[in-house]
Parts: sequence; structure tokens; C-alpha cells
Amino acid sequence: MIATTMRAARLHQPGAPLRVETVPVPQPGPGQLLIEVAACGLCGTDIHLAVDGDIPVARTPITLGHEAAGTIVALGDGVSSLRIGQRVALFPSPICGKCRFCRSGRESLCEATQAYGMSSDGALARYIVAPEFGAIAIPDAVDFATAAIITDGVSTPLHALRSRGALRAGEAVAVVGCGGLGAHAILLARLMGAGFIAAIDTQAEARTRAAEFGADLVIDPAEHANPGRAIRAQLGRGVDLALEFVGRPETVETTLRCLDTGGRAVLVGVGPGRPSLPPLVSFIAREQTVIGSFGMDKRDIADLFDFVARGRLDLSRSVTKTYALAEINEALGRLARKDTGIVRLVVEPGR
Ligand SMILES: [Zn+2]
Ligand SMILES: [Zn+2]
Repeated sequence: MIATTMRAARLHQPGAPLRVETVPVPQPGPGQLLIEVAACGLCGTDIHLAVDGDIPVARTPITLGHEAAGTIVALGDGVSSLRIGQRVALFPSPICGKCRFCRSGRESLCEATQAYGMSSDGALARYIVAPEFGAIAIPDAVDFATAAIITDGVSTPLHALRSRGALRAGEAVAVVGCGGLGAHAILLARLMGAGFIAAIDTQAEARTRAAEFGADLVIDPAEHANPGRAIRAQLGRGVDLALEFVGRPETVETTLRCLDTGGRAVLVGVGPGRPSLPPLVSFIAREQTVIGSFGMDKRDIADLFDFVARGRLDLSRSVTKTYALAEINEALGRLARKDTGIVRLVVEPGR
């Protein structure tokens, strides 16, 4: 029997603590699943929503949480590809499966949705309702916490490196901002055969982790006003692919300064600022490219499950700590303080 009520961590007002309160268990409609949430990752987006309030939500109160993994406990009418008892992870938004982007495997651009916790209730709760199209089966060898962080924290950098950045084996890469996304970008760039990886971060702890995760060169911007120069000193040229995970004009400009002639910059970090391009004459004559990368496609998540299940990718250092639902504000506080010891934090609503 599924309970009729559950505990959920709800946003009432940005800047105020989330309230863990009792709400009705949602019912799956046609084409939907009811999932018992085993793990839900937290990320910078949750801080924008819950603390800073600079990403608006469609309504309050709303249950946050968009990096979920759990077990299917009920099926709505017409669900045919999944069954009760199956372990699944959720695409971070309730993608429609019908728009031109969903139909062509580019779910990152789905026209119909925002992430869970923005327009519909999220996974910081015992149960969540999700569309069948947005559920991805988890192999037995991948635990729930790892599956949860893969749905966003690991798939976002894979999408940036592979689909958007088109990284080829042997190329040189720079990663600007080595928090959770950047650290995983380093791991994945190694897996994809990058020939050289430079990591740039203002925080000593993040630089140490970047080196542990496989960066060949770690750069403190406080010591190198132009990290591109430090890369050229070691590599003899700029990088083929540079990824930006911070979302500030100055870090975007740093990213562009790392590029070789012909290089590509992939921008992932989001913020309100307006970075400037280099002088057109040099940008154009050097045939450089600036690319936006938003989230991930379902294929990124499914492939990462395979990489972990087959032992190709080791994410054993990725979940820094797990929390019970009642400890949600402690976990968010740690994230909001930009505690650099964190790769990812995970909430286990069943605890
Ligand atoms: Zn996230
Ligand atoms: Zn769609």
C-alpha cells in the first residue's frame, strides 16, 4: 500500500529555510509514473531557487529537487515501456516527448518544460510523479545516489564536452571553474582521451581535487592574471576546447583567452552578466567558436550509467555526503556557503 501523505521539502519564500511538511502523495496521470525517491542530488540551481531567489518559480509553495533516482511504485494509464519495481532515474525536467526537440533526441531543448522544483513539484519528497518519457532505467551496478547525481552533475559536463564541444581524442582542454560540474568535466575529458587538461579555479581545495581527478596543470587565477599565458608556457599553444562553468563575464573572458587558433569555447555557467568578445579582427581571423550548452539529453544520462556499470568511469569520490530530508537546510547551507570540499550532496528522502 502506498501512503496517502508524505513529507516534502517545500519552498515558501526564497531566502527563508525550506519547510519539511506533510503533503498528499501525487497520483500518476496517463503516461506518468509514481516513483518512490531513493536519492535526490542538490546543485547550484537549488541555491538560486531557495536562497538567492534569482531564478523564479511558477508558484509557491513548491517542492524542490530535480536530480532524482528511485523505484517505480505505480503506473498511470498507457505506460508500456516500464514496470512497477524498476529502478529509474529522472531527466531533470518533465520532458514532453512530443516537441520537435524531444522527437530528435535533443531533450535539453524541450519546449514544454522547466526543471522539477520550478514549475512542478520536485523530488525532495518521498514520492514524485514523472512522465514515462523522462525516466531512464538504472543498471543494477549503479547505486541510487550515483544515479541521482549523474542526471545533472555528471551529464551536464558530458553534454558540454561531447555533444556541444565535440571533443576528439588527443585534444587539449581547459576547464574554468572546478566545482561539481568542472570536476566531472575533468574526469570525463580523461575518459574521452583528452591529451592535456588545464584546470582553473580560485579555490585551493578545488584545484587540489582537479589535480586528483586528472588535470595536468592547475592554475590559480590570483597568481596568473591571464591563465591562457600559463597554458601556453606549458603546452606551447592554447587549448582546442575550453569549458566555462562559472557564468561570470570575467571567467568567460578567461575561457576565451585559453583558446588556440581554431579553438572552441563551450559556455555552461549561467549568470546575469554580459561578457565581451575579443576584438573581432582577432576572433574572426583565428576562427574561434563560442557555443552554449544547456543541461543534457537522455542519451548522456543513459551512456553514463553504462560507463559506470562497466567500470569505465569511477564516481566513487563524487557523492561528498548524504542527508536525511529533515537535514535539507543544513545541506543547502553548506552549498550556499560555497564549501569547496563538496563535489555533490545527496538527500535520501527515505531515511
Ligand atoms: Zn541540478
Ligand atoms: Zn519536448
